[in-house]
Parts: sequence; structure tokens; C-alpha cells
Amino acid sequence: MGEVILDVKGLKKYFPIAKGDKKGLFVKAIDGIDFDIREGETLGLVGESGSGKSTTAYNVIGMYHATAGQMTYKGHDISMASAKRELWLKRDMQMVFQDPGTTLNPQRNIKQILSLSLEIHNMVDKSDPTGQLLRLLDMVGLPAEYLYKYPMSLGGGERQMLAIARALSTDPSMIVLDEPTSSLDVSVQAKIINMLLKFQKERNLSYLFITHDLSLMRNLATKVAIMYLGKIAEVAPVEAFFSRPRHPYTQMLLSAIPVVSEEEEAAKQNKVESQGEIPSPVNVPKGCSFNTRCRYAADRCFQDDPVMREIEPGHCVRCHLADG
Ligand code: SF4
Repeated sequence: MGEVILDVKGLKKYFPIAKGDKKGLFVKAIDGIDFDIREGETLGLVGESGSGKSTTAYNVIGMYHATAGQMTYKGHDISMASAKRELWLKRDMQMVFQDPGTTLNPQRNIKQILSLSLEIHNMVDKSDPTGQLLRLLDMVGLPAEYLYKYPMSLGGGERQMLAIARALSTDPSMIVLDEPTSSLDVSVQAKIINMLLKFQKERNLSYLFITHDLSLMRNLATKVAIMYLGKIAEVAPVEAFFSRPRHPYTQMLLSAIPVVSEEEEAAKQNKVESQGEIPSPVNVPKGCSFNTRCRYAADRCFQDDPVMREIEPGHCVRCHLADG
């Protein structure tokens, strides 16, 4: 595996509450997370709604300005918001959103959408600009005649492929993917996942892949991090993550993945039934934030917030009982 390309340390993002009886308090959407991504690596960032995974993506890409913490990309500080980022950084780190319909201008055709990205980054092939666009379409399996179509005339999967083509048009080193397949049919999902894997292999791309679908990570991620109420509960290389999960929350999520045979069901380790709902990020429980849902919770878990500990190389767990 290559060098560390993105290094995040102690990242926090708090949102002030401006109204009601909670006025003056903060939603701690991200509360001190650390992770890194190497060249050619995929970090799968997984969690339920409200866990902070999308907020993490928006901080990395510069849509939010972090409350605290450090982010470096290729050795450069990128803690500033997008408006203050240099052009090379915007070119080198791209993003694909969950709903491409909201990021593809409906009043521009595909030729205009792809051309704009290339023009901004001064990457137009002046000798053959149309050929350059057709090659981008072909790369993601869209036919040449789509060049003059508008995004709304495309299907959801085709729009996402167009968004991926636009992201790749600037030849980035890293792409942040925020639930890129969650609103698509399973067959289209598989096509897009295979395409992302192919591009990663060809271009040594790094991915930060945000998802609530843990099962997707088995074939896609190099390592997986689980977020819960703004903190990372467990991070591990993908094989260790699925075969030796140590945090009770990870075990609960893995137990919820559907299986198709009795053998697979029997092979599930540490089966843990799902219980309870994720608490409000405004009212995070004292001690371990998972204590309201954890069947192993002991007295200490209601007093002390566990720290992240490395239990084997690259496998870190935030739980008082991680060694047990
Ligand atoms: Fe459960 Fe305690 Fe571990 Fe939290 S610290 S996950 S409550 S055992």
C-alpha cells in the first residue's frame, strides 16, 4: 500500500442550536475523530443516520469549516473551507454525491457539464475537445449520443455514471463518495461498484466511501471505520473487521446483515441482536455513548468515555472491554 494521502486528526464539527429550549447548546456532529487513507486505498466510513459520516465527508471536501482538528492532504494543510482552497486541491480531490440530480445543473446538457469542469481546471484538450468528452462518456459506459442530452432525461444510474465521469475528468488522486449507490437498484449498484473498483486499479485512486450499507464494504473497502454519535467506534483492515469485530456496535451491525444460507447464519460470530435507537446528538449519554444500547454495559461505561486503543496492527477499538 502507498503513502498516506489524507491524514485527519482530532476532527470536530459542532453546529450551534439557535432556537428553542436547547438554544446555546451544540450538536456535536463529529467529536474528535482520527483516520488516514493511503494511496490506492478505500476507507469505508459506515454508520446509521446521524452518526456524522456525511459531515465528515463535507469537512474533508471543504464544504464545512471544521470546529477543531487537523486535516492534511499530500502533506498540505486542508483545514480551510472550499472557498479558500487552492485550485490544485479542488482538482485533485473530487466528490460524488448520493443524488446526482442535485449536483448536475438541469439547464446544461452533458457536453456543457463536462466541459465546464475541464475549463475550470484548464484541462481541455484543445486539439480534440469533443473527442475528450466522448472518451469520458465511453469510460463510464454512456453512449456518444448522450452528449447533447440533459441530466433529467437520464436514469438515476446514468446520472451517477455521469457524475463519476465528471469527477474523473480532472484526473484526481482521491474521490469522496457519499452514499453513491444507495438510491439505485441493486443491479445498477453492482455496475457502479465494479466500475469504481476498475478505475481505482487503473489509476491508483484513493476513496473515502460513505455508506450505511456495511455489506457493500466486504468487497470494496481496504479498511472499515464505524461511526457512532460523532465518534469512530472501531476501525480495522477489512478482513479483521469482518472476521474479528470487537466493538459491540460493530457486532450488532454485522449481525443485522442478511445472509442467504444456514451455513452463513451459523458462521456469524458474536451474534448480537439490534436494540434501541441511536440517541439524539444533542443529548449524548454520559460515559460511553453506546451505553444505552449495549448489552455488555457495566458501571464504568456510564461514567468514563472509553479511549481508542489499538488491539492489533491497524485494528483500533473504542470500548472498555475491547481486550475481553
Ligand atoms: Fe458497551 Fe461499555 Fe464497550 Fe461502551 S464501553 S461499547 S457500553 S462495553
